[in-house]
Amino acid sequence: MKNLHSIIFNNSFTETFPGDQSGNLQPRQTPGVLYSKALPTPVTKPTLIGWSDEVASGLGLSKPDEEDIKLLAGNLITPSMRPYSACYAGHQFGNWAGQLGDGRAITLGELQTATGKVWEIQLKGAGPTPYSRRADGRAVLRSSVREYLMSEAMSHLGVPTTRALSLVSTGDPVLRDMFYNGNAEYEPGAIVARVAPTFLRFGNYELLGSRNELDNLKKLVDWTISTHFPHIQGEDNVISWFKEVLKRTAFMITEWLRVGFVHGVMNTDNMSILGLTIDYGPFSFLDAYDPAFTPNTTDLPGRRYAFGQQAGVAQWNLGCLAGALSPLFPDTKPLVDAIESYEDLFWTQYYHMKGNKLGLDKVKSEDVVLIDQFETFLAQVQPDMTIFYQSLAELNLEIAENGREAILGHFQNSFYTSLSQKDEADLFELVNKYINRIKANNCTREVSLEIMRKANPRFILRNYLLHQAIQDLQNGDNGLFLKLEEAIKDPYSKKFDEFVNKRPDWANEKAGCSMLSCSS
Ligand code: AMP
Ligand code: MG
Repeated sequence: MKNLHSIIFNNSFTETFPGDQSGNLQPRQTPGVLYSKALPTPVTKPTLIGWSDEVASGLGLSKPDEEDIKLLAGNLITPSMRPYSACYAGHQFGNWAGQLGDGRAITLGELQTATGKVWEIQLKGAGPTPYSRRADGRAVLRSSVREYLMSEAMSHLGVPTTRALSLVSTGDPVLRDMFYNGNAEYEPGAIVARVAPTFLRFGNYELLGSRNELDNLKKLVDWTISTHFPHIQGEDNVISWFKEVLKRTAFMITEWLRVGFVHGVMNTDNMSILGLTIDYGPFSFLDAYDPAFTPNTTDLPGRRYAFGQQAGVAQWNLGCLAGALSPLFPDTKPLVDAIESYEDLFWTQYYHMKGNKLGLDKVKSEDVVLIDQFETFLAQVQPDMTIFYQSLAELNLEIAENGREAILGHFQNSFYTSLSQKDEADLFELVNKYINRIKANNCTREVSLEIMRKANPRFILRNYLLHQAIQDLQNGDNGLFLKLEEAIKDPYSKKFDEFVNKRPDWANEKAGCSMLSCSS
């Protein structure tokens, strides 16, 4: 175990690719390079608020000392670091946005563990970079707590994600117009140190494609494959790699749908090339099961990034990546075929996942009807997604003998509104069908329940809990934050049942509890 400040960092990305070494932080276009040197801007009073022991132990790091805390705030650069911001582009809300880049993220270096695994360490909110455009390069405590806790929560749920090592408050106020409505206010600033094998996004490849920098594009693709997909070799490695990116992306989305996660800003610059959940902003878990729910106020007009749109948007985004890569292919048919294969791949994974949520031994073709019927019922009645599935796992298979009232009573706690006559009849029919199907399982009830327990989280990090923890932190009380930090580690158990509740009424319309803006 070592202290972070004594690590000798690797810098393979900056050593491999052309970069702008001027250190100039003025916003600008940077053609011809994949990154720009960018030193963090020091802050007034770094204070450690969160430290992930699990991430730290994976990196071989000991508890942070004073020097480490300075480093995590951008106040200490050690000799082996080559801090930089990556240049990337992207499609935002379906439109080409041109060059974007790390506007508030600075990579410090690559940490190689004793087992040889390499992790990029990046500070988010460490000050302006050449890609900050008109913004300040900073992050507020509110958004940093959200990223810190949620990336760890997702990891413990088993969803592919970038990780968070630390959360540090800066002591410097940051001006934010939280709802873009002219009511800017000062909020405490903070910095998250986040960790991933790489933070490369679809947008890194799109940038080079759009600029017709084909040598750089080819070099980036080759480096990505050899560094991050070393098992992919041979002549057709680029298409094999693209297919793997596609597969990982489809898997990530299936996992989001399993746990009820809505990312909120699925622009191509927020799509990790490793198929990790990345760039936590105005995300939310579903409370009520509404496939049209988007947590992002900017997304309200079109609901492009709503819960139920995510699989389709991912395919669209993969299409953008394929477009960027197409100059590397003499014939683009393999790319087109791969994009077309997405639907089969996704739906197969999707029904498998849904079968697990329902506790089916396996998904037979006739089960698709039952699964779809659940989907229709949930969208129609909009119960609390998490609590509904918990109730389903607690169902007594003989309950139907006691009639409709018993079934209704069993699920009562998951409903946000009272059910119509039709809803009640649909629930009765659905549960009866379901019980018959479960009785036809070729496995014991215990095995089926075990499948359900693994597929259905009991504790989810709801936005209203985050909101409360953030408010308390801003008032100097870290009690709830620390409790949530523990609860996220055990989302499938009953250990944290004090947090297993529907969204309370007070949170329905409250800013930060249901809707958020990109500045979140
Ligand atoms: P996002 O929607 O958070 O993924 O951000 C889209 C783009 O805006 C990225 O290039 C970000 O780096 C940039 N950006 C977001 N917030 C800030 C900020 N406070 N300062 C500088 N750049 C930012
Ligand atoms: Mg982003």
